[in-house]
Amino acid sequence: MSTTLSEGDRNGDQGCDRMKKDSEGSKAKLRRHFLANIGRVLSSEELREVAKISEWARRVRELRQLEGFEILTDKDRADLKPGEYLLLNPKPRPVFESSISKETRAFVLDRNGFTCQMCGAAAGDPHPSDASRKVRLHLGHVIDRSKGGSDDASNLRALCSVCNEGAANITLMRPDRVTLLAQIRRATRADQIAVYEWLREKFSSAE
Ligand SMILES: [Zn+2]
Repeated sequence: MSTTLSEGDRNGDQGCDRMKKDSEGSKAKLRRHFLANIGRVLSSEELREVAKISEWARRVRELRQLEGFEILTDKDRADLKPGEYLLLNPKPRPVFESSISKETRAFVLDRNGFTCQMCGAAAGDPHPSDASRKVRLHLGHVIDRSKGGSDDASNLRALCSVCNEGAANITLMRPDRVTLLAQIRRATRADQIAVYEWLREKFSSAE
């Protein structure tokens, strides 16, 4: 990312440079301000003052959507008024959805009936562990991106914020023996030999 920015700085004209720096600067200020005020409700006036630009709301949206900060609004919590913002968790959640188009997102949510595919919660339901929060739906990968899963609609499903936070553990769940053996049978000969070598190595020392 830093490479892209410095290239832009080199190639862009001065005005463009300044705009880019301003927007980076105000976003960094907002990020710092949110992180310094975990658990405190921040008003639009305060955020506008911190960012010093009229487009501050767009920068807040970028912190949410591109950086994964769970900045809560009145849409998430019944006790927040419109124009109030609250960050409780300093750790941004992994950003799964940035490269998924609006159309794909809408298609998957509609296909899944706007319902979490793990626990059945619907968007807007009360949060199971915090009644003042509402359930928000995210898109999760069926096969994780790190394991070669695509951003295609067929590999996506609706997950609520609660299940999505725990989803990393699910992909680490132990595969059962039947699935594992079936996969090894279907693997290439080279991969089968690699598995065989690995197992032989592992169990030769245990004997
Ligand atoms: Zn759920």
